[in-house]
Amino acid sequence: MKIGVIAIQGNVEEHVRALEKTLAEREEKGVVVTIKHRGLVESCDAIVIPGGESTTIGRLMDREGIIAELKAAADEGKKIMGTCAGLVLLAKEGDAEVAKTNQPLLGLMDVKVKRNAFGGQKESFEALLKLSIFDDVFPAVFIRAPIITHAADSVEVLATLKGHIVAAKQANILALSFHPELTEDRRIHHYFLE
Ligand code: GLN
Repeated sequence: MKIGVIAIQGNVEEHVRALEKTLAEREEKGVVVTIKHRGLVESCDAIVIPGGESTTIGRLMDREGIIAELKAAADEGKKIMGTCAGLVLLAKEGDAEVAKTNQPLLGLMDVKVKRNAFGGQKESFEALLKLSIFDDVFPAVFIRAPIITHAADSVEVLATLKGHIVAAKQANILALSFHPELTEDRRIHHYFLE
């Protein structure tokens, strides 16, 4: 199994480490590679788009031709997980802030997103989140996190917080408002690789 982490900007190393540990725990042979340029997505079985600055990641992915490659990978049924800024990028539609920056979106999930929905950096917080896929709560770190303000029927909502959708899945695409790579709880990474 080969897993690619989009490595343009943001929490790249944290995801790489979490994925490597998860592979080791699963006793699964696999390799984690970082993706900065076109030509690598195709060889991956699963891809992670990390948190960071969605405007920057989106523009540079577009320039590199990675957006087109990710769309093709999603079409082929490859697993793609986006966390925080990654969730913004997976969405079909953005809010006024997204429109203002004219940032490219992948449009791989039938959702509308709102950036920085809980406020700025100072309003970052951790919450014990109830996800429908786990029995026990998950320690979720929210940093300038987006929310999903609208989801199509084909989207499965996995968690809400304060009435807002913060985790969702649509076929092979998984999107989270928070940062599972910043805690030692690797249940999300296990779920993703399952
Ligand atoms: N607010 C950022 C954005 O919309 C996301 C923040 C993050 O990924 N931690 O790009």
